[in-house]
Amino acid sequence: MAVIIDGKAVSAQVKENIKTEVSALQEKGISVALAVVLVGEDPASKIYVRNKKIACEAVGIQSKEFLLPESTSEDELLQLIQQLNEDPEINGILVQLPLPKQIREQKILESISPIKDVDAFHPVNVGKIMTGAFDFLPCTPAGCMELLHSAGITAEGKRCVVIGRSNIVGKPMAMLLLHEHGTVTICHSKTPNLAEICRTADILIAAVGRAKLVTADMVRPGAAVIDVGMNRQDGKLCGDVDFDQVEPIAGAITPVPGGVGPMTIAMLLKNTLKAAFLQNNL
Ligand code: NAD
Repeated sequence: MAVIIDGKAVSAQVKENIKTEVSALQEKGISVALAVVLVGEDPASKIYVRNKKIACEAVGIQSKEFLLPESTSEDELLQLIQQLNEDPEINGILVQLPLPKQIREQKILESISPIKDVDAFHPVNVGKIMTGAFDFLPCTPAGCMELLHSAGITAEGKRCVVIGRSNIVGKPMAMLLLHEHGTVTICHSKTPNLAEICRTADILIAAVGRAKLVTADMVRPGAAVIDVGMNRQDGKLCGDVDFDQVEPIAGAITPVPGGVGPMTIAMLLKNTLKAAFLQNNL
């Protein structure tokens, strides 16, 4: 039976620490604020934005929402980001993705000041993740690392397999494991013999978006399995890992829900706090 890594409990502890640091800053007269920009009416995005606001408020970070209509032009959004970049009251800027089709996502992400880029999507921050000299870590991969650490697992000397190569999860996840001296393989939709490669992993990270893709035959006994996937099957939220099959084999495993999801928001708060430190030369 695997150790179940409890993302709710780990994230609660992270948030408690952030709350303490935010209130210490407030005592010095420094407030911490995150600007969250939502363009359009995407229902899932609205829920994410609401959850981020609630999480900010719970730790004393001000959340300033900017809700723009679906018809917003790229120039209008760029203007808003410019204002937020220049606003000394704003420490972090998050533009909720996806954006409506008339707006180029990359152009917007590149317009956010790197020092306020709490998602760590700006090419400057992506480059810093490559070199290891980073200010901000991408939220979901950073959350996965914290979950591993909470279970006493580090990547050093381990064989790590990441399934998925997106810019948001898979690629930066592989870099963080590599920085921690793991030996890392990245798999993707064109990888042959996926099961065979996965079976070599001491640490297996699934970030695909396909319900129950990872089955028992793909997991080495005792492996740590981190499930990033968020899928709906028969109306229920489930991950990329077939939890019921894999849990008896794995050494440690994250559930969905209650695993990586809560950590992503906690890491966003951590980055916003870090941004406030950096901008105040602390
Ligand atoms: P994405 O669609 O950008 O990337 C998916 C990756 O999976 C691609 O690199 C693709 O090559 C690979 N892939 C697709 N089919 C495959 C297959 N059959 N075998 C092997 N690889 C395959 O997705 P993403 O943004 O990286 O997100 C991945 C999943 O993680 C989604 O379910 C998403 O909802 C979830 N997610 C969760 C959180 C969280 O906080 N829990 C955060 C971000 C993403």
